[in-house]
Amino acid sequence: MSFVKMLASGQIKSEDGIFTIGGRRQLIVNFETFRVMMDEMSNQLGGNVKAVYRIGKAGGKAFGEIGEQFVIDKETFLSEILELTSFSGWGNFTVEDFDEVNGRAIIKCENSVFADRQGTEPACHVTRGLVAGVCSYLFKQDVDAIETTCAAKGDQFCTFKIMKLGDFPEKDKPLVAAQI
Ligand SMILES: [Zn+2]
Repeated sequence: MSFVKMLASGQIKSEDGIFTIGGRRQLIVNFETFRVMMDEMSNQLGGNVKAVYRIGKAGGKAFGEIGEQFVIDKETFLSEILELTSFSGWGNFTVEDFDEVNGRAIIKCENSVFADRQGTEPACHVTRGLVAGVCSYLFKQDVDAIETTCAAKGDQFCTFKIMKLGDFPEKDKPLVAAQI
């Protein structure tokens, strides 16, 4: 069942301090609170974007499991889980490319929750980890994600390129070295 159908059929509940969607507990956090917590987490890690990425990736692997109940095929699985992520306010995700055989995907995100301020470097390390973790779960092999465009550095949207670490081509090596 798609997430939109779940919404329509009323599988969203909040009772006794427990908020659930489709029977799974969720947590709504005020955006400013979340951002301050994420910034402080990054500060505590000495601004190490690779560590922030790995935290997101661990979460993504766990998050991937909730897609199991929706599975029709793997591409639908990924679309469904990104639909849930979009609904939850992380940004508007779309799957631009999907290659199950080689364990590769390209995911685009508009309005990324981490890209609401301007800088010179990609900023969506938690999200990058999240999509890498989800795809690692999905492909049943370890894959990584680099962020090739990011709204935080003036691009129109964020782009996550996902594949096995050893498969990234030469032109991506500087981003791989900086982000993974
Ligand atoms: Zn970004």
